[in-house]
Amino acid sequence: MLFGPPGAGKGTQAQLLVDRYDLAHVSSGDIFRHNLRQGTPLGLRAKEYMDRGELVPDDVVIDIMLDKIMSIHSDEGFILDGFPRSTRQAEELESALTARARNVDRVLHIDVPEDELVRRLGGRYVCRECQAPYTIANSATIPACDRCGGELYQRDDDRPEAVQKRIDVYREETMPLLNHYRQKGLLSDIPGQDTVDGVFQSIVGAL
Ligand code: AMP
Repeated sequence: MLFGPPGAGKGTQAQLLVDRYDLAHVSSGDIFRHNLRQGTPLGLRAKEYMDRGELVPDDVVIDIMLDKIMSIHSDEGFILDGFPRSTRQAEELESALTARARNVDRVLHIDVPEDELVRRLGGRYVCRECQAPYTIANSATIPACDRCGGELYQRDDDRPEAVQKRIDVYREETMPLLNHYRQKGLLSDIPGQDTVDGVFQSIVGAL
């Protein structure tokens, strides 16, 4: 399970983990953005919350995410990126996993100070096709995606007003979960201000 504030590098590190350990990647944000592109009722419902930087209501998120997680074959490992984000989500996830005799092996908390997050999100671009994230300092020249050649774009919720709200929501609703996993002995704190590779090495060490 990957935790961290918006802009901590969860998507980047999740991709590296997927490549290294051959895991399924379950990203709640990617699922909502995919639905939004397809114009599904779920996507349109989620958009109003996402654009404001708020959490999509638990009732909507939990069903979708548990369905997705439970469809992963029991032989396959997976990485949860962006879920759970509230106490109720964590409780429902735990009972669903217990019922399937599956468990969370490790919870990684990528820790980055707030001023750094605001700076990073301002330069964040994402591939429209494969969702790979990029940080681009100079927005005059936006390259194509290294991985698939897709177009890079800036997310609506990376606008400054939404960014501050997302950081506040993380602090209030998601950070309390860290203590829960710390008490269970599952949490590893990963310093997130290193290079991408440096952060990845810390994660591999923790795993
Ligand atoms: P992310 O790509 O993980 O930053 O997610 C983008 C947005 O999707 C968030 O700001 C929320 O509005 C919504 N979202 C993603 N995951 C969740 C979740 N587990 N619970 C509620 N809302 C979520």
